[in-house]
Amino acid sequence: MNYQNTLAFAQEQDQLDPLRHFKDRFYFPQVNKQDAIYLCGNSLGLQPKSAQMYIDNEMYKWANLAVEGHFKGEEPWVNYHELLAPGAARVVGARESEVVVMNQLTVNLHLMLVSFYRPQGRRFKIITEGGAFPSDQYALETQTRFHGYNPDEAVIELFPREGEHALRTEDILASIKEHADELALVMMGGINYYTGQVFDMEAITKAGHEAGAFVGFDLAHAAGNVPLHLHDWDVDFAVWCSYKYLNSGPGGTSGVYVHERFGNDSSIPRFAGWWGHNAKERFQMKKGFKPMEGAAGWQLSNSQILPMAVHRASLELFDEAGMENLRAKSEKLTGYLEYLIDDVPVGEDVLEMITPRDPQARGCQISMLVKQNSRQLFDRLMEAGIIVDYREPNVIRVAPTPLYNSFEEVYRFSEILHGSLQTVGQK
Ligand SMILES: *Cc1c(COP(=O)(O)O)cnc(C)c1O
Repeated sequence: MNYQNTLAFAQEQDQLDPLRHFKDRFYFPQVNKQDAIYLCGNSLGLQPKSAQMYIDNEMYKWANLAVEGHFKGEEPWVNYHELLAPGAARVVGARESEVVVMNQLTVNLHLMLVSFYRPQGRRFKIITEGGAFPSDQYALETQTRFHGYNPDEAVIELFPREGEHALRTEDILASIKEHADELALVMMGGINYYTGQVFDMEAITKAGHEAGAFVGFDLAHAAGNVPLHLHDWDVDFAVWCSYKYLNSGPGGTSGVYVHERFGNDSSIPRFAGWWGHNAKERFQMKKGFKPMEGAAGWQLSNSQILPMAVHRASLELFDEAGMENLRAKSEKLTGYLEYLIDDVPVGEDVLEMITPRDPQARGCQISMLVKQNSRQLFDRLMEAGIIVDYREPNVIRVAPTPLYNSFEEVYRFSEILHGSLQTVGQK
């Protein structure tokens, strides 16, 4: 695409954007009495205006039906999780029975590790990305300890080559092959939270399976950001949160995918609760756990109706927009951001993009390594009404989401970035 560094060009792109109206379906935070330029959907997505109505419905049921709300009315709470599976399955490219919405992300990661990290003999190692999100690191560290291993030995972390910021797929695959005899599991992010790199999940899954290991992904930064095809890629399990690109509110509920080949296999070890028990017998309160078919058999507790109501409102927007349409816009919008950052007249000694240049190897996030006065630069941006985020030691992450961000916002961001770099005293 031929980009231009002008407001007129950005506005023209917005006119041509078939998804431009989705912006009106969200609330924007106010800074200096106007809508902020919100480029932080990678951390907390904006509130869909429809969310309140979905919450109000459930509050109304609670007020008027109380305990009867579990079984009465059009959408009884007892089956509420079933309302979310179809939309969530479309977001991650899975069959409906392979997906369940429950708990929160790190909890679900542990539940999946109980089922899919089953070290035996020499096969006890886990391959993962170095510098994974800390929660994932802690999960792997404590799970390997739980099985009696030393995490320094059991967890193999892969880092980019000297002088590079992204992992090369060939290096990931080679490492899986090299450790084939001792590998129990390959577990990585779908997208690295820091650099924004998208991993080649299909190739990694294939290599992991060839090595005789299970393969799972944490899709916190991938779900709602890039198209996913978990079933076709043959991934064993995945987990994600709903409050980042999926706009379902702070601490919102999480999603789990389990490939259907395990869905009817009651021999898979798991930590069980009554909500995963065969629904027909659940209220007989009998001894002896019999899991429901599919991912639903991993549920523990009765559904968190209020966060799930918000999640429903959000998933409906994704269905309306369509992941493929969102991706088409996202590639253009992120490409525009990249072009404009490149056009800011400072050298790599000041600002360096660490996100892959290849559009297929990234989603909508661009991470900038800021080598001088990074904290001041971040503060300037925030004062000017730009909401982005800062990750220690000196990275600013900028995420134009295709659902509610515009080309004009990306253009204005770059203008303010340019101006702020001058006022914080950089060359
Ligand atoms: C955001 C994020 C988390 C957060 O975990 P919660 O359990 O939702 O608090 C975990 N892992 C990754 C990769 C993340 O990006």
